[in-house]
Amino acid sequence: MKKKRSGHYCRICGKTRPNEKFSGKGHRNHICKECARKPKTERDEIDQTEEIFSFMNQSHISKKNVERLTVLADSENEKVSELANIVLEMARVKPYKKRRLKMLARERRDLLKKLDETGLVLAHRY
Ligand SMILES: [Zn+2]
Repeated sequence: MKKKRSGHYCRICGKTRPNEKFSGKGHRNHICKECARKPKTERDEIDQTEEIFSFMNQSHISKKNVERLTVLADSENEKVSELANIVLEMARVKPYKKRRLKMLARERRDLLKKLDETGLVLAHRY
């Protein structure tokens, strides 16, 4: 049987699901009905984790990004707060992506280790 290609991507569970699995609002927000029923804290964790990882992939972490990371670092969610704190520290030491890992390997092995342990370093290498 040929696999149907129609469907819609859910940014929370990361799956492409049939259109009937999305409400009108869900379509716009890219959240399937199942994920829409999850608690907001859980959805926020996924969204914010993704957001923090995307900063790693930018060529430069701007002042505005730093402001956002400061907010996320204050999160009651431990995982989000930990990730945000690491990226925030990195942004203070080396906001530019270019030669970042080399510089950290030379001067901030502790920070590099944290990036490695959390998987953040993978986002840097995309
Ligand atoms: Zn979903």
